[in-house]
Amino acid sequence: MGTVAELQRTCEPHANVPRDLLEWYDRERRDLPWRYAPGEPADPYRVWLSEIMLQQTTVKTVIPFFLKFTEAWPSVADLAASDEESVLQAWAGLGYYSRARNLHTCSRQVVDNFGGNFPPREADLLSLPGIGPYTAAAIASIAFGARATPVDGNIERVVARLFAVREALPNAKRQLRDLAETLTPERRAGDYAQATMDLGATVCTPKRPSCLVCPLQEACEAHSLGIAAQLPYRVAKPAKPVRRGIAFVAVSEEGKVLLRRRPDVGLLARMQEVPSTDWHDKMPVAGEALRNAPVRADWWPVPGLVVHTFTHFRLELEVYRAVVPPSAELTFWADHARCRWVPRADLVGEALPTLMRKVIAHGLAQS
Ligand code: SF4
Repeated sequence: MGTVAELQRTCEPHANVPRDLLEWYDRERRDLPWRYAPGEPADPYRVWLSEIMLQQTTVKTVIPFFLKFTEAWPSVADLAASDEESVLQAWAGLGYYSRARNLHTCSRQVVDNFGGNFPPREADLLSLPGIGPYTAAAIASIAFGARATPVDGNIERVVARLFAVREALPNAKRQLRDLAETLTPERRAGDYAQATMDLGATVCTPKRPSCLVCPLQEACEAHSLGIAAQLPYRVAKPAKPVRRGIAFVAVSEEGKVLLRRRPDVGLLARMQEVPSTDWHDKMPVAGEALRNAPVRADWWPVPGLVVHTFTHFRLELEVYRAVVPPSAELTFWADHARCRWVPRADLVGEALPTLMRKVIAHGLAQS
């Protein structure tokens, strides 16, 4: 990594990047429901909500969720006044559910600690749940016009290419952040941040950057060296470990499905699930697993596996299905307090994560 003086020298060929990128943004920017026209005051609530939703998720996926949330809760005070269960239900399908819990807690802290107004300073934003350095910088620049530099994977890619940074990620993160900061303009920092996001999403894409239509082509070192598509380099990640288990889809003769609320802490905390065995590296032996089924019944294995990838592991679930009479008693280990029978037609409104929707669909597909 270079010194500040070296970085400044490095930056000279890039002096026009902010101007060229802002001109391009004024012509080509994406029209998104949380976007504001240049000069129009931004609502920090909508900026914050969009940035939290966009973490690890594509714009296309986020748009309907953003519209649903802003219709149900038009302000941070409305969201704070709601209950967590409603927020989790509305979030179901968007993944990374700790974001939804933090979203709700954060809305209450904004109301309780900041009088219902998001604080403009990055340091104060960072004190709120679910807001890390990237999101704090994005809100400070987009909602409040501060000279802050959000740096996510898209922006790392653009910067790595502009400066032809050969050091591999993740080691290169600090260098890429420092270089990104040298480019952020004093004025229109929020527009500039969104312009960089748009460029990374639509032109400077991971596999095939469209350098011929890029407004930064002249300043781009990776393009002039012919290595744009190869950057940024990355240290190969080790393969994700695999966990395995058996999930139980119990359907009552009236057509209700047995759901259970997950524990208050840990993965998918407080979301709904169908009961399952613990998840370990080996698939449980069927006979042993069935002794832990939530209801005494004739359980049938459904052919095939449900596979789901989490951030840190891949999960493979076998699914067993049973049709049980309304009088069926839950077994001791099903944990009665957290279980309930839900009509199939109502499953759509439940706070079921994508994994559990896949398990239920698989379990019911051939019934
Ligand atoms: Fe990315 Fe190509 Fe533009 Fe360089 S010229 S910033 S590699 S799209």
